[in-house]
Amino acid sequence: MVEIPSFENVESKPGVPKPDPILTADGVMRSFGGLVAVNVRHFEVQRHSITALIGPNGAGKSTFFNLLTGFDTAQEGHGMFDGRELRGMSSAQVARAGMVRTFQLTKALSRMTVIENMRLGAQNQGGENFARALVSPLWKSREKEITEQAEELLTRFKLIEKKDDYAGSLSGGQRKLLEMARALMSKPTMVMLDEPMAGVNPALTESLLDHIVDLRQEGVTVLFVEHDMHMVRRISDWVVVMAEGRIIAEGDPHEVMRDTAVQDAYLGAHHDTNLFEERS
Ligand code: ADP
Ligand code: MG
Repeated sequence: MVEIPSFENVESKPGVPKPDPILTADGVMRSFGGLVAVNVRHFEVQRHSITALIGPNGAGKSTFFNLLTGFDTAQEGHGMFDGRELRGMSSAQVARAGMVRTFQLTKALSRMTVIENMRLGAQNQGGENFARALVSPLWKSREKEITEQAEELLTRFKLIEKKDDYAGSLSGGQRKLLEMARALMSKPTMVMLDEPMAGVNPALTESLLDHIVDLRQEGVTVLFVEHDMHMVRRISDWVVVMAEGRIIAEGDPHEVMRDTAVQDAYLGAHHDTNLFEERS
C-alpha cells in the first residue's frame, strides 16, 4: 500500500511547491495566433496524489496536457517528469518514461477489437524493442503476458465480455473505460485523464471513480480534468484551477471552491453557479 500524501503543510496559492513533486512545469507558454492558450509560470504535481485540474471551457487545460505529454510543443518553458527533462521528448518517449494520458475525445480505434486496442497499449512498454521482440523466440511468452495483462484489466473495467467486439460498437462510456484500461497497459507511474467522466452514465462513473482511487493506492499519480465538482470533491487530494491559460488558484477541494477568483472565473464564463454548492 502506498501512503497517500499529505497536503497539510502546502499553502493554497497558485504554483505552490509540493513536498515531493513527480511533475513540474516552468514558464510554459503556448499561443495560437494572438490567443495565449497556456501561460503557466510554475506548476507541480505531488507524487502519489489525485490532483484535479479544473477551469471553464477554453481555460487551456487540454492544451496544457498536450504540452506536458509531447503532443504539442510549448513556445517557451519546459517541464520535468520524475527527474527527466520533457522538452524535446515525443509523446511516445513521454509514455515510455511512465507518463500516459487519455483524450477528451476518445482515441480508441473503432475498427479494431477491444483486445487489439489493449495490445496496442502495451507497445509503450517495450518501446523500440517491441518491434524486435516480435521476431524473437521470447515473443511468444511476451505475447502471452500481454494478453493476460489485457484480460485482467478488461475484467477490472468490466469489459471482458466485449473483448472480441469492435471498439466502435461500444457505448461512449465503455469507450472511456477502454481508453483508461488501454493507458494502463504500459504500467505508467502517472496518468493524465482529460475529462474521463464526460458522457459516462452514472453507474459507470462510480466504477471510474473507484478505478482512479485504486490507481492511487497502487502508487500511480493521477492528474485529471473534470467539470463536475461533486466528483472532484469526492476523489481529489488537491485541486488546481486554470482560467485564460493561467493557474489562478490551488488548494484543498473544499477550500478552492470558496475562492472568489475561482467563482469569478466560472461566472465570467457563464458557468452553472450550482457548481459551488456542497451536496450533502
Ligand atoms: P480547455 O481544455 O480548458 O477547455 P483548450 O486547451 O482546449 O481548453 O483550449 C484553450 C484555448 O486554446 C481555447 O481558446 C481554444 O480555442 C484554443 N485552442 C486549442 N487548441 C487550438 C488549436 N490547435 N488551434 C487554435 N486554437 C486552439
Ligand atoms: Mg479540454
